Amino acid sequence: MNCDVLLTNAVILTMDERFTMHRSGAVAIRGDSIIAVGPVALSYEGAETIDCQHRVVMPGLINAHTHVPMSLLRGLADDLRLDVWLMGYMMPVEREFVSPDFVRLGTRLGCAEMIRSGVTCFADMYYFEEAVAEATAEAGMRALCAQTVLRFPTPDAKSYEESLALARAFIEKWRGHALIVPGPAPHAPYTCTPDILRACAELAIEFDVPLHTHLAETVQEVEDSRRVHGMPVVPWVKKQGLLDAKVLAAHCVHVDEGEMRQLKNLNAGVAHNPTSNLKLGAGIAPVTRMRELGLHVGIGTDGPASNNDLDMFEELRLAALLAKGTTSDPTALPAREALTMATRLGACAMHMDHLTGSLEPGKRADLIIIDVDTLHNVPSFDRDPNALYARIVYASKSTDVVDVMCNGRWLMRDRQLLTLDETELRGAAQHEARRVDAFLSGRELSVLQKLVAVGGAVEQESFEVQVKARVPSDAQVLSVVRSKKVTLVRSSHYHQYDTYWSFEDPEQGWLRYREDEFLDEAGNVTNARSRLTLTGRTREEEFGAVLLFRSRYYAPATHSTRFYREYFRPSAEHVIEKDRRRWLLVYRGVEFYVHLDRLLKPASDGYFIELKSRTWSRRDAEDKAGVITELLALFGTSPDDTISDGYVDLVAGGSRR
Ligand SMILES: [Zn+2]
Repeated sequence: MNCDVLLTNAVILTMDERFTMHRSGAVAIRGDSIIAVGPVALSYEGAETIDCQHRVVMPGLINAHTHVPMSLLRGLADDLRLDVWLMGYMMPVEREFVSPDFVRLGTRLGCAEMIRSGVTCFADMYYFEEAVAEATAEAGMRALCAQTVLRFPTPDAKSYEESLALARAFIEKWRGHALIVPGPAPHAPYTCTPDILRACAELAIEFDVPLHTHLAETVQEVEDSRRVHGMPVVPWVKKQGLLDAKVLAAHCVHVDEGEMRQLKNLNAGVAHNPTSNLKLGAGIAPVTRMRELGLHVGIGTDGPASNNDLDMFEELRLAALLAKGTTSDPTALPAREALTMATRLGACAMHMDHLTGSLEPGKRADLIIIDVDTLHNVPSFDRDPNALYARIVYASKSTDVVDVMCNGRWLMRDRQLLTLDETELRGAAQHEARRVDAFLSGRELSVLQKLVAVGGAVEQESFEVQVKARVPSDAQVLSVVRSKKVTLVRSSHYHQYDTYWSFEDPEQGWLRYREDEFLDEAGNVTNARSRLTLTGRTREEEFGAVLLFRSRYYAPATHSTRFYREYFRPSAEHVIEKDRRRWLLVYRGVEFYVHLDRLLKPASDGYFIELKSRTWSRRDAEDKAGVITELLALFGTSPDDTISDGYVDLVAGGSRR
């Protein structure tokens, strides 16, 4: 009987369900598939026969979760918190640079690295997934390619409807491909809406393809889910119908016993990403318990921007070590189990185990040949068959991989890549890095540019005359506001928490993070909002104590103070808390905002009044400055009692000049 390739004299780890191992066996390959494994394969005559003395033949490793094109963002920003890393660096750079060409190059770079380290199959999630699929197929690797869907605009879609349509077209086109399994990727519960989760699940079910997502990665995500939805992450996504699809869920770091059982019962696969979870401080997934419950847990590297490599040998070793360390049990996750997670179980988690993951007749020929005769892997003890698994998991390195075959095609022979040009890839990747560097360096020049980059800064194109002054008591102010001298339009009351940040370069001005709590008559909080204001050195002119300011920048504050502190890295911070009564009133035909403030932190005696009016010209400003001076007198104060620029100068003990 003939076959195309016959591997002989090898130690064969089939990684099948019975963990069949052949001490000196053979593997016969015809076309894209394995046709025989073990002594029986020796009856075949190969067109190509390879002697595998001192080598191990085993299934190609399976990287169960990654974002391959992010290889181009490797090392861009490290040692940051997840939100600062993601929203502050990754997403702004992705918005600017990610295109089909970028994705294609990143995929080819990632594939080259993975082939070198013995990976034949991976689960991807990114933008322009079609470009990932094309580049992967060209490189000859197998992959689950999942098109990202998010509730906000992405590099490849202006809306989630558009990205869903993209996902549908992509799946329709690529379904049935020899190497690529297409699917939808609702990014995560916290970046999607219930509608998106449901629509993605329906799409995956309609075409019978896997669905790739992130679940329960951080404590924050779980706490938010409990607070907003009244339940943890897994039951919530189940309620949205997500788990009706064939799900591959990355992370699952913070899941409880009930959630693990739920995932198991609904046949969801889990991708364990130990390096990424450790590096981003997310925690350690309870994989030992998941495996006890029979969950299909694979191992993934996650994107190379959070790892920072795609080395599955490192990843599976870390998975084994962490399981022991966290359970104080050296018998937890033994080597054979860890290697299974990086092969057959990874394929199960990706719902692709009918194709790959073990060396069995009928499965595709996805395999690697490893040199185990290296200095760091001798001697060998043959007494215990499990010793070989331990050698692979605890001592082998990705550089020991000599040959790689996927779908019956050689991708690497004798450590030479056959489908990709490494020199060219290195050069092209460096070129991309220079462009990203230039973009980020430009942005780092100003607080405003960083504010714009993180999203939503609006320039308020207006002039404003204003003054702040001490008033001896609130009584006179209140009596004026209630008197016939002014017309009261509107009033409100709130508690304000202001965090002011300044920077090494005073030209950058002050950045203020303000949280307003609206209070009702009884002083109860009825509503809250937060926003960022960048106040530059925008003072235009002075009319006595009254100042004319021009346009400041506002942005809705969608993140925590901690996020902005870590993102903007100010050189100083001042916190001011105050009680503010606010009125909109008309005096001598001019509309004014009047603020009556009492400083609570740092505590200060007496009250402050702030008067403000919009204006459209210098001439108008001058007139209003005159009216403001009159109003100050009405409120029992005068230009002599004004304070220069604001409370922050009072507490910071200096002027911003
Ligand atoms: Zn991920």
